[in-house]
Amino acid sequence: MRNLRVAVPELSPLARRLVTGAGDLIGAVTSGNRRLCILNYHRVLETADPLVTDEPDLVGFRWQMQLLAQCFNVLPLSEAMSALAAGTLPPRAVCITFDDGYRSTHDVALPILVEFGLPATVFVSSGFLNRGTMWNDQILETLRSLPDATGDLSEFGLPDQSLGTVAERKLAIDRLTQHAKYLPPQRRHDFIVKLVQLAGDGLRDELMLTRDMVCNLMRNRVEIGAHTVTHPILALLEDEHARQEIEQSKHQLEEVTGEPIRLFAYPNGKVGLDFDHRHVAIAREAGFAAAFTTGFGATTSRHDPFQIPRGRPWDKTPLMYALRLLRWLAH
Ligand SMILES: [Zn+2]
Repeated sequence: MRNLRVAVPELSPLARRLVTGAGDLIGAVTSGNRRLCILNYHRVLETADPLVTDEPDLVGFRWQMQLLAQCFNVLPLSEAMSALAAGTLPPRAVCITFDDGYRSTHDVALPILVEFGLPATVFVSSGFLNRGTMWNDQILETLRSLPDATGDLSEFGLPDQSLGTVAERKLAIDRLTQHAKYLPPQRRHDFIVKLVQLAGDGLRDELMLTRDMVCNLMRNRVEIGAHTVTHPILALLEDEHARQEIEQSKHQLEEVTGEPIRLFAYPNGKVGLDFDHRHVAIAREAGFAAAFTTGFGATTSRHDPFQIPRGRPWDKTPLMYALRLLRWLAH
């Protein structure tokens, strides 16, 4: 496993004691109905990427994990869900999750998780194991590959979009992603196929986990959860198609891991927009023990176990990050 030790900002010993003490106080006041913060990551970038600004790089991820190891009780997600139901959550309870099944969860995040002794869960879209690139990354990598002078994106709905600066290129990626996200599946497929042609044959195809990496994650305290086969917006599918996506991802991952897959995360994860009560019922019937959204805030025992929210502090310093976690645990 790689050595990814780099210098990172951290809390002073005094600040650590204050955060831990405040967390214990919140835990005492809320005992009987303690809250759980479930953090939701996707990729961890080996170096900062100006075109991917909403995921941490190695330095950011490292100080976040160090902070969690120093000041919070990081639990395996299945164990935390059982403790939540039984009313036995410890104070300062946090879980770490990653969605989609990016290779960087294995290559960049795992060595840091192992170093700090932290468990995690990776929700894998099973259709991308070993090969393939998710549609949003096809947009990203296509736009990254285009020369500055590419003038005309009008056939993709961006008639005046320049790519002359990083900010303009990022804006084009965001606009194309927003446009494609809620297209019906076949239209989105056609849109992406046409767009990718702009890149010639230069697109990378090495962003996602392999089957061997999934097994290695499991050997290192990482639980595998399902996240559909092709990562569709479930609400846009016929019910039978949605059921296939949910059930097949469970079966395919059970075949890869040799273990029952007990947890599921809804793609995109916004209740009412990306999925609804039909998909909650399907996840329940498929035999999962719990399912996770991207709704805001911390979890209590009052939440439906098939609509558990996850989020992540967006703060850029350890102290502010810790304070926001405390606020969510106290709220
Ligand atoms: Zn996802």
